[in-house]
Amino acid sequence: MEEVTVNRTINEGEVVVEPLIASICHADLRYFMGQRKPEVLTKKLPMALLHEGIGRVVESKSNSVSVGDRVVIVPNIPGHLLKKGHPEECSSYSQQEFIANYGEKNVFLGSGYDGIAQNRLVLPAECAIPIPDSLPNEIAVLSELCTVSYHALSRVKQKLESSQNTTVAVFGDGPVGYLTAAMIHHVYNLGPERLTVFGAIDEKLKQFTFASRKLVQNYDFKSSKKVDIIVECTGGAFSEHAINQGIDLAARGGTIILMGVSEDRVPINTRDVLEKGLSLYGSSRSSSADYHAVMKAMENIEYQKTLRAILPKSNTPIHNLSDFQTAMKSASEHRHWEKIILDFDWSAS
Ligand SMILES: [Zn+2]
Repeated sequence: MEEVTVNRTINEGEVVVEPLIASICHADLRYFMGQRKPEVLTKKLPMALLHEGIGRVVESKSNSVSVGDRVVIVPNIPGHLLKKGHPEECSSYSQQEFIANYGEKNVFLGSGYDGIAQNRLVLPAECAIPIPDSLPNEIAVLSELCTVSYHALSRVKQKLESSQNTTVAVFGDGPVGYLTAAMIHHVYNLGPERLTVFGAIDEKLKQFTFASRKLVQNYDFKSSKKVDIIVECTGGAFSEHAINQGIDLAARGGTIILMGVSEDRVPINTRDVLEKGLSLYGSSRSSSADYHAVMKAMENIEYQKTLRAILPKSNTPIHNLSDFQTAMKSASEHRHWEKIILDFDWSAS
């Protein structure tokens, strides 16, 4: 890693944000440790890392955001906001929402486009969303992660809301699984009788106090009671098992949402997908619209209590490049269940 100075012009409709705090994602660690495929690394590097964070507006060329506002940074920037042509055609549900999230010309902070590890960010105002006064920084910084869950679950919103009997199983006892299950509980009001979390590590599973918890090692997926919605939040080498167990567990006509990222192709039991008429949705990102809804939900104190379980005892102060490198190295060497939160004060370096 090295420090560089980049000159940016600030166009109409853009704002300048000074990052306050940010959390480290596995995606950042994969770049830091060079664990992506060489051609991906060549294409995306060099760049500033991090995409989960909040900041303060220090300059604004927009009417919607003012200097001094605390904002959540939306890392998924629709291409047309960066003048990369017009919104594209697409064939799926609410055209506009879909393009905002899945647009081919979108850029994503910390993924081929400079991320939050900078002392100033220039963003379209649409991607700097004011944080309600009642939300503390450490809750607001979880917005990006929570919106990813929110967006994924919006694909089954009707199913979740239309019946008091809809059941859900979440696979994954890491942060994505935790925040997704927490959202199903606090936003869609499912308790342990309808929400089950499957994990591999008892210590982690214990954190999911609001759901039924099962260890995958000794669960009989084939002959157990079937579940309407399966959410896969494992990714990596475990996604093959989780997806196939999910296919076994799914009710006929059920839905599987895939949220776990995997570097390699994953062999899955398509025979049963066909036979049961399952729908599979993929989702790993979110866009501005999701943030407004999530921050509103986060104002609920009970939800905040649940979210606090994933926060560290203290934040890691970052004053300079060497602090940042040390934090990234330590994050890649010691995988904790809690998120690592970086507290920026670059001005002190
Ligand atoms: Zn992330």
